[in-house]
Amino acid sequence: MECVFCDKKIIDAEKFYEDRYYYAAYNLRAFLPGHSLVIPKRHVENLTELNKGEKEDLVSFLNRTIFIALKFAETEDYDLVLQQGESAGRSVAHLHFHVIPRKETDKANKSKAEWLFEFNKNEVYGRNLTEAEMKSAVEKAEGIAKKYSSELKALS
Ligand SMILES: [Zn+2]
Repeated sequence: MECVFCDKKIIDAEKFYEDRYYYAAYNLRAFLPGHSLVIPKRHVENLTELNKGEKEDLVSFLNRTIFIALKFAETEDYDLVLQQGESAGRSVAHLHFHVIPRKETDKANKSKAEWLFEFNKNEVYGRNLTEAEMKSAVEKAEGIAKKYSSELKALS
């Protein structure tokens, strides 16, 4: 199995929150601060392959990940992106949603119309976080999840 999201060692280094069905992980090639991924624990390639339990839990888990990511970046706005298939810019063939906190002043807002272009460019040409940067981001997000555990519970 070549899938990076099925690689326990990789997921363990990048995840900051999880429940029965999903991981929330910090994106290795973060586009903006707080850029996180929602990844089903089970290997599926397409939204249509989610089972009943995964479907029922999805919006709740997205909301909880968004909550943490927004606290991380200290903002209220975000993009939620699913790239389905290679033509849509997907680089890992294991279903995942991008949660990208946004601010009026962020670099992607130079031109709002072109932010997705900038995002896709970053996925291809951007650099991976160093191990230390990833560790620090994961610890910060884990700290937020711990601090706001009752708010997160209310969202589930
Ligand atoms: Zn996988």
